[in-house]
Amino acid sequence: MNTAHAPMDVLVIGAGPGGLAIAAALGKEKLNLGVLSANDPLEPWPYTYGIWGQEVDELGFEELLEHRWSKTVSFLGEGSRNSISPENNFTSHNRDYGLFNKFKLQKHWINQCNEANVTWHRGKAINLEVNELFSIVKTSRGAVFKAKLIIDATGYEPIFLNIPKDREIAVQTCYGIVGEFSQPPVEENQFVLMDYRSNHLSEIERQEPPTFLYAMDMGDGKFFLEETSLGLAPPVKIETLKARLHSRLKERNIEILKIDHEENGLFLPMNIPIPDLTQPILGFGGSAGMVHPASGYLVGGLLRRAPSLAKEIAIAIKENNYTPKEIAQKGWENLWPKELRRKQALYQFGLEKLMRFEEEQLRQFFTGFFSLSNDQWYRFLTNTLSLNELVSAMWTMFKKAPLSVKWGLMEMKGRELNLLWNFLKPNI
Ligand SMILES: Cc1cc2nc3c(=O)[nH]c(=O)nc-3n(C[C@H](O)[C@H](O)[C@H](O)COP(=O)(O)OP(=O)(O)OC[C@H]3O[C@@H](n4cnc5c(N)ncnc54)[C@H](O)[C@@H]3O)c2cc1C
Repeated sequence: MNTAHAPMDVLVIGAGPGGLAIAAALGKEKLNLGVLSANDPLEPWPYTYGIWGQEVDELGFEELLEHRWSKTVSFLGEGSRNSISPENNFTSHNRDYGLFNKFKLQKHWINQCNEANVTWHRGKAINLEVNELFSIVKTSRGAVFKAKLIIDATGYEPIFLNIPKDREIAVQTCYGIVGEFSQPPVEENQFVLMDYRSNHLSEIERQEPPTFLYAMDMGDGKFFLEETSLGLAPPVKIETLKARLHSRLKERNIEILKIDHEENGLFLPMNIPIPDLTQPILGFGGSAGMVHPASGYLVGGLLRRAPSLAKEIAIAIKENNYTPKEIAQKGWENLWPKELRRKQALYQFGLEKLMRFEEEQLRQFFTGFFSLSNDQWYRFLTNTLSLNELVSAMWTMFKKAPLSVKWGLMEMKGRELNLLWNFLKPNI
């Protein structure tokens, strides 16, 4: 079936959070646009999306949360069988954390697209051609789309975007369950960002890459527990995470009574390079390196960055005398200005370090991290510090760190020198 569609201003490829966020923002700019996706845009998303309370409030999306916790903590000690031991003390984060109602978030963006008369197309994009007037995309079934700008929002392995292949990708892996337990695995109304207690592990297991528990009380006797590896190349295996979650629970005499939902085998690439910023198409979302390298979070960044990018694109398109490549350039400059690229290099430098830390170093590192001011660590995790503020936060952490952590931060075993070079001289 060969269908040639009428030319449009923008074609967004992909209908995940990235594609929908940018399509909704472009729709508000009254552009003529379409979304092409391999799947149904209404198909339920597979992950749970977390966000800090302040971030969601500032964005004005608080009504899209399904859960919100004020009792937010991390366990950064080694842990002990004796529940009142100082090793079981927790660090209180003193700020709210929430989980999106992901159906509401998806519907919110889809409704905004519908209000702006965005056209929906199903198909798998397989071919791209860019000339002076249009970019032309073909699908596996022969449909042809012409647009002044293509936005590739096809996730971590984008179909068309050119991403430098200069590194081994560090992957966060998680094994999670939502269910009922013989006794509460976390306190009532509690959210645990990181439980690094490791007294359930053997001496040999403690030499292996560290993992932590991300856990929360979901209400009605249900809890969500997720054993997580921060990010590693090659990644920690899902079977290891599953076994660790079970031994963690066994150590605390907790039995799993019922599993309602299992997140089995989730992989999140953390240190995705920034795409080639000279290419004639644009990216948004996971494809465009927008995942926060320290947290793996994306949705807050999508909501924050889509409106200004959409404005920039609309201005360029309405001028009517730019080529697709020039429009894409305007977009890339907005999406990845120099300051953000330098910050990204610093974050990735940090991740490179943490990936090699042993368990005790990691616990000490995070103890230092959460002793930054509350505003500082929150803005570090939401990528809202300026470059100078980020450097200052990292320097404070370094100064306060115990010797073993300092040494770990100074050792240059892998790509750190490259990343520092990117910080000093980010690519064009
Ligand atoms: C385990 C895990 C946990 C996460 N937790 C959080 C969290 O708590 N908070 C947070 O903010 N973020 C989180 N993220 C990160 C991020 O929000 C998600 O990964 C998000 O799904 C990425 O969105 P995306 O739109 O860029 O890509 P995707 O969701 O992968 O969407 C890609 C879209 O492109 C389409 N597509 C692909 N190829 C083609 C093609 N050739 N032609 C047409 N269409 C195509 C697909 O059908 C799909 O619609 C998590 C990610 C993972 C993996």
